[in-house]
Amino acid sequence: MPDFLNVPFYRHDLTPADAEAVARVLATPFLTSGPVGRKVEAQIAAFHGVAHALLTNSWTNGALAALLAFGVKPGDEVIVPAMTFIASANVVELLGAKPVFVDVDPSTLLMTPVAVAEALTPRTKAIIPVHLYGQMCDLRGMREVLRHRPDVRIVEDCAHCFEGTRHGERPGAWSDAAIFSFYTTKNVACGEGGAIICRDPALYERLQQTRLHGMDATAISRYQKSRHQHWDMVCLGVKANLPDLLAALLPPQIAAVERRLQVRKELVERYRVGFADGPVRLVAPEPDTVSAEHMFLIHVGAIRDTAIDILNEAGIGVGVHYRSVPTTTYYAESYGYRSSDHPISADWGAGTLTLPLYVSLTRDEQDHVIDTVRRSIYPLLENAQRS
Ligand SMILES: *Cc1c(COP(=O)(O)O)cnc(C)c1O
Repeated sequence: MPDFLNVPFYRHDLTPADAEAVARVLATPFLTSGPVGRKVEAQIAAFHGVAHALLTNSWTNGALAALLAFGVKPGDEVIVPAMTFIASANVVELLGAKPVFVDVDPSTLLMTPVAVAEALTPRTKAIIPVHLYGQMCDLRGMREVLRHRPDVRIVEDCAHCFEGTRHGERPGAWSDAAIFSFYTTKNVACGEGGAIICRDPALYERLQQTRLHGMDATAISRYQKSRHQHWDMVCLGVKANLPDLLAALLPPQIAAVERRLQVRKELVERYRVGFADGPVRLVAPEPDTVSAEHMFLIHVGAIRDTAIDILNEAGIGVGVHYRSVPTTTYYAESYGYRSSDHPISADWGAGTLTLPLYVSLTRDEQDHVIDTVRRSIYPLLENAQRS
């Protein structure tokens, strides 16, 4: 092994074949949404066993399109976990509705059906469970909690979980809509992108409109027709369609998603063995779920920022996923939240860091990460625990 290894936090593994797929789109007259995207939508719907899929230019814009389709408006409440990426709450806030933050399970960091039951009010319009780090929340349990509230929509945040399962079921099985992100670091990625899946044909029709300015569907295909077609705007929508230039990167990754998951699973197992006897806290596996293994985190508590410096100095890129959302300045100032309102998320967010995990991570690189944590961070933790 060389003396100094640089291990980036993330590195894609696209190939010259991917560049050729983009070049094929460049050779066509229109670069934006078209036949490539429609094929990918069919591929995603088939993979998840649902009737409909719509590509979007991000999770965030897809979620806005979905919440608009569900009529989320000022005065409504939407239940979101405190431990997630800010986007899960921002989409609610952007529509003038109120994100109602709930704390998460202390061992899996997932939003629970019990938390949903406790936060439910007559104003609740939707819930956004987040399949954090790749493990799926108990959607079936949440559906049960909402059995007398058919007016409350379930929108799954699947940004970390394209390929995971729970009780053998994939995202989309229990929700009204499930939304993926193809942002550059995600398990399936095209730089920026996302997708919505749903089962209801009427919702699918509405989503086609809210995804594109609220224009009626006949207008959306206007460039395919030889004669000009007038269009109408029938509702308010966002601009969320994905261009074929980016969609062209997705088919091979979706086709290989299980094989790629297997590679990350083996890396996760090596991390778990490497840290099994040590003082760092790990996310507990949820029973009966196959995690999409999106991220590997260690919780080191009060020495977190020192630990990040140590890893960075050893050439290792790390992340923090996430600071508790209600403790960010914006949400704390807007709603008066304090850390003690969501203690599990606040503690996790103050003490966690995320290690490199991706298909092209080599064993030498991973050994360097594990050795650095064991050699330089364990002693700090053991000292902290003694004093
Ligand atoms: C990345 C991420 C998002 C946002 O995805 P974009 O495609 O960047 O909009 C939302 N939720 C979670 C949990 C994420 O990690």
